[in-house]
Amino acid sequence: MTRRRLIALLLCLTPVAAQIKPLTILHSNDLHAHLVPDDRNNGGFARLATEVRRQKARCQACLYLNAGDLVQGTPVSTLFHGSPIYEIANLLGFDVATLGNHEFDYGWRRTQEFMRIARFPIVSANIVDADGKTMTRPYVIQTVGGIRVGIIGAILGDLVGTVITQESAGPWRILPVVETVRKYAQEIRDRTDLIVVLAHIHDETEVDAILHQVPEVSVVVAGHSHVGYRTMMNVDGRVAVLVRAYGDQLGRLDLKVDMAAKKVLSAEWTKIPINSKIPPAPDVAAVVAKWESKVSKQVDIPIGESTARLDSRSPQLRKMIERAMAEETGADIAWVNGGNIRDTLPKGQVLIRHVWNILPFDNYIVMGKFRGSDIPPSITERYPVDPDREYTVATTDFTATNQSASDQLNSSALRFPRTGPLQRDAVIDWIKKKKVVP
Ligand SMILES: [Zn+2]
Repeated sequence: MTRRRLIALLLCLTPVAAQIKPLTILHSNDLHAHLVPDDRNNGGFARLATEVRRQKARCQACLYLNAGDLVQGTPVSTLFHGSPIYEIANLLGFDVATLGNHEFDYGWRRTQEFMRIARFPIVSANIVDADGKTMTRPYVIQTVGGIRVGIIGAILGDLVGTVITQESAGPWRILPVVETVRKYAQEIRDRTDLIVVLAHIHDETEVDAILHQVPEVSVVVAGHSHVGYRTMMNVDGRVAVLVRAYGDQLGRLDLKVDMAAKKVLSAEWTKIPINSKIPPAPDVAAVVAKWESKVSKQVDIPIGESTARLDSRSPQLRKMIERAMAEETGADIAWVNGGNIRDTLPKGQVLIRHVWNILPFDNYIVMGKFRGSDIPPSITERYPVDPDREYTVATTDFTATNQSASDQLNSSALRFPRTGPLQRDAVIDWIKKKKVVP
């Protein structure tokens, strides 16, 4: 065959072959500043970085997306208000990230500081000011492996007022997720081959709704629920993925993209464990060590022993925290919402660090006196009361000011006029006195 004929033949074949293109989306969510491995030696930013680099090196068309709540959860984040985590995240290789509700925990100005530190694009379409101007870019279009991928960001539709206070949000308000995503999906459809939503949102009411109601969107990479999906959500070939929190898994979604139809032809999802078999990336390990050394003296101090491993959803751990708060303040009843408790109490030696991980928020204990009949069922179903007796009830200042939120004090308007110690300090003190817990 002559060279010219060969070229002619190739030109004929190429357009057909180019109709289907592979795309791999690596993804994580809710890393929550878990820089170092957990009590079972899983996770850690330096190992995560190694795995992402390995995956990217083997991959011809790859994007790594992070679905929010990068900060809040460990002493480095609490003490330095999240900024070091964004500095370290610059080494993780995110191609695009979005904001989670906890990015607002240190106030909205700090959220803007995170966006200044980040050397990766941060997308979010539904955080706007009074004039409708978005806090950050609503979307980006990135071309990988010849595919123009539009990535639209979104955050919880009920963020302000329910999940965080208006004070933390400052001038920002939230537009409805589904409508906003639809608007941008329609706007970028002609300029893209595939549309991905990268969002920190509710599973049932928002992820599922996008898959059902916005056909322009082919993939949702989600965050917020810490449990992780067992299998990917799939609605007529449009898929959604979410991995477990704290970075002990990296998600990998392998797609075949039908370029003409702008659709996913096939999707396969795997969860890669981030464990001790993965060597830590030296550059990331060095920055993590630098920041950990600034907190280690304060938090790597033994305070007692634990006879059982209790994870963050364990009713026993919640009871232990409540008991510590009650005994430290002299209250009759202490009550925290489930979301207050963020990490595992390990079995064996308990360090101050573990209590910081369990209670990373700078919450104070507050107290009030109530008649038994005035205490809402969310408390009395766990702590039965005599309706005619008076009780001192303790909770956190966060819960006291967010009583209208679900999972909280059932829309009651209880007043807690007395302020006690930092919740975390009270629990540390209590463990020191008890020596053996729970
Ligand atoms: Zn989270």
